[in-house]
Amino acid sequence: MGVAIYPRDADNVIDLLRNADAALYQAKRAGGNCYERYSEDMKSAAVDRLMLKSKLRRAFERNELRLHYQPKYHLATGRIAGAEALVRWDLPERGLVFPADFIPIAEESNLILQLGDWVFNQVCEDYRYWQQSLAAPEKVSLNLSLKQLQQHRFLEKLQGTFRAHGVSPTCLELEITETTLMDDAERTVRLLNALYSMGLHLTIDDFGTGYSSLSALQQFPIGTLKIDQSFVRDVAIDKEDAAIVKAIIQMGHTLSLEIVAEGVESEQQLELLRRQGCDYVQGHLFGDPMTAEELLQLLLDQAGGGAQHRQLFA
Ligand code: C2E
Ligand code: MG
Ligand code: MG
Repeated sequence: MGVAIYPRDADNVIDLLRNADAALYQAKRAGGNCYERYSEDMKSAAVDRLMLKSKLRRAFERNELRLHYQPKYHLATGRIAGAEALVRWDLPERGLVFPADFIPIAEESNLILQLGDWVFNQVCEDYRYWQQSLAAPEKVSLNLSLKQLQQHRFLEKLQGTFRAHGVSPTCLELEITETTLMDDAERTVRLLNALYSMGLHLTIDDFGTGYSSLSALQQFPIGTLKIDQSFVRDVAIDKEDAAIVKAIIQMGHTLSLEIVAEGVESEQQLELLRRQGCDYVQGHLFGDPMTAEELLQLLLDQAGGGAQHRQLFA
């Protein structure tokens, strides 16, 4: 909830509503389920956001969006076993803008649908590009927003995209956050079953930060749990985080799910995850997310017998 009070915060209805909206935005950013009172400094942030939103509308025609890929490594062998597509916005006067600064803005409107479509198309295009040099590129995972899942005829649209590019759904994986899954679990189960029947692999992203019920976990046709980076961050120094990570890995394996740890930055974290039996890792320890060309080079190198991080996985 956002609160603006007459006459302190504005002396007319239009400004009062706008300011309440700015406070609402802050409350949402703070994680929701709370309220914020409007304050003067929210105004400049609100103006900034409006500017960014109108620029984002034009980003599509101006060709300013980019996709970077972060490889996912199989912990036991060090092989690249897939990659996650992460969107960036190359804004001329600002440089690369990261998703935290524009996905929430896009999610306030239908821009997120346009963005989601763009990402799907670009992933398929990149996949075709890799297929020119590689028989079977590894699976690519995409992040999905709640609004995308909720849109009318989402399945048909996806099928159309796959057909247009000649890419099989079995080449892709969808990442859905725990919160998105639980939003309308009954409807989501049906949709996910349909996506799963198409051949898509499904992953729960940021696992551990939301409220999944174990019975729901069983119902969803999920193949992978991705442990949120907030648990991975201190896994090597904080006993409680280590215990949570261990519990997620054991529970996931019991349910026949694969486990990915994201945000791996140090060898200590890697070592601990290895000891706990984690299946896959992703993170800055292996470099920054990269362009489609750079990922292709890595995959070609791997196909030729090279192993980029041999020492880390030895
Ligand atoms: P996510 O899906 O949980 O993605 C992981 C984020 O962690 C990425 O941030 C990634 O760059 C970052 N990361 C990876 N390794 C490390 C590490 O070792 N240390 C740290 N500190 N961070 C690491 P990014 O790219 O800024 O993306 C943030 C979020 O934006 C993503 O979280 C995802 O929820 C959302 N997002 C990204 N691309 C898309 C997209 O195409 N569509 C939608 N709907 N959301 C997206
Ligand atoms: Mg993700
Ligand atoms: Mg995540």
